[in-house]
Amino acid sequence: MPISPLAPEWLSFPADVNALRPAEWAAGVSRSQDDDAVSIQGLSVKDIAAEFGTPLYVMDADDFRSRARAFKQAFDAAFAEICGGVDVYYAGKAFLSFDVARWVKEEGLRLDTCSGGELALALRAGLEPANIGLHGNNKSVAEITRAIEAGLGRIVVDSLDELERVSTIAKRLGQQANVMLRLTPGVHAHTHEFIATAHEDQKFGLSMVEGDPLLDGAGEVEGKSPASVAVSRALKDPSINLLGIHSHIGSQIFDTDGFALAAERMVTFLGAISQHHGVVLKELDLGGGFGIAYTEQDEPRSPEELANAMAEIVKVSCERAGITPPRISIEPGRSIVGPTTFTLYEVGVRKTVIVDSELGDSPRHYVSVDGGMSDNARPVLYDADYSAVLANRSSQADAIISRVVGKHCESGDIVVKDAYLPADITAGDLLAVPATGAYCWALASNYNYLGRPAVVAVSEGEARLMIRRETEDDLFDRDLGAK
Ligand SMILES: *Cc1c(COP(=O)(O)O)cnc(C)c1O
Repeated sequence: MPISPLAPEWLSFPADVNALRPAEWAAGVSRSQDDDAVSIQGLSVKDIAAEFGTPLYVMDADDFRSRARAFKQAFDAAFAEICGGVDVYYAGKAFLSFDVARWVKEEGLRLDTCSGGELALALRAGLEPANIGLHGNNKSVAEITRAIEAGLGRIVVDSLDELERVSTIAKRLGQQANVMLRLTPGVHAHTHEFIATAHEDQKFGLSMVEGDPLLDGAGEVEGKSPASVAVSRALKDPSINLLGIHSHIGSQIFDTDGFALAAERMVTFLGAISQHHGVVLKELDLGGGFGIAYTEQDEPRSPEELANAMAEIVKVSCERAGITPPRISIEPGRSIVGPTTFTLYEVGVRKTVIVDSELGDSPRHYVSVDGGMSDNARPVLYDADYSAVLANRSSQADAIISRVVGKHCESGDIVVKDAYLPADITAGDLLAVPATGAYCWALASNYNYLGRPAVVAVSEGEARLMIRRETEDDLFDRDLGAK
């Protein structure tokens, strides 16, 4: 079979269609020597599927812990002499369960939450409130109240309105709120590139650009940026304990230049605060967004590379700004949990269509699986690419260009847009899609009344149900008309 004209440019024809590219898979995943089935820590996906059913998220729990540890160790080492180490906040929105919260704690990381629900989980899981952060551009009064009452380590304030809201609530409670200010350093990164702009046309954060028209209109602070107004107000407010500033420039980023530019702008701003107010803020959070490998196009940086690049720029920028380096924190989500998990599906129907291409008519094989956009919304939401392999066996059949689709009533219900899969893949086979640990379970839905899949955690060679599959009763439980 030749290279298909339907294959995107980045997709190479596989030398071995059964190969597992290590960057896309959890550390414990390999093909079994016995029967070539994909296995995790020695457990065959055939046995896992038989026990827990499909579709199924299979997480290498030991890999989660070692990736969490790797970030903590690499950043602590790189920043040891600059600021004595780094606080690593795992971004819970990527994937959060009670077990994950406990692993995060045990590995010495902290936890970022961005809603009342995530915060409730963190508190119930027994995390120290001092090690929890709360994000969000529109936190409710109830969420802010709970955060202050619990004594959260940091509330990341997103706007001038919210600063006022936090201040009012803290006053009412007679407590001080620990606050970071989320700023938009004018660096926007997406996947393989970043752009630096003056104004950020997006909902998050306080602009660092001077002369915001709303502020000018108020007459009060002409020529100042929302960010600097927020700093002035926060420093004057006895109910606000201003810890520092925060930036998060995007997600699935590979180029360290974007982080470097953001860090430089943030440090420069800290220098300006120091000159203007005579106060050196103690903390600087540089956010998350480190990219992972979904397909062969992605070449992620190791935690060491990221840490060393960021440490260098923080050090140089602080020297230039003439300030003592602040305590640094980061917020990796995807880069810790993404590669730890694969989704296991059972193959159902197939079909072949003939597609008109520049090089003439060309076949595309559709492979339908028993899940889809309800367990992985990222292809639909972000046009995200994934890869897939035949998992219950290997195959010597031709590799043909294929599209893995779900079972939803939606033609956009695509799991893997383009992958070479063996031509003999058939009903009853298992298909595994790697790197589904982040933003898949978290974004899962009940579209078409599908129950959300279970999550199995594999540790020390044993598979354990971490989150059970949703049942029919779960699906109808809240419908008061159900009998
Ligand atoms: C989503 C988010 C993160 C984590 O992003 P990843 O791409 O998962 O690393 C970190 N910080 C903030 C503020 C976020 O919104």
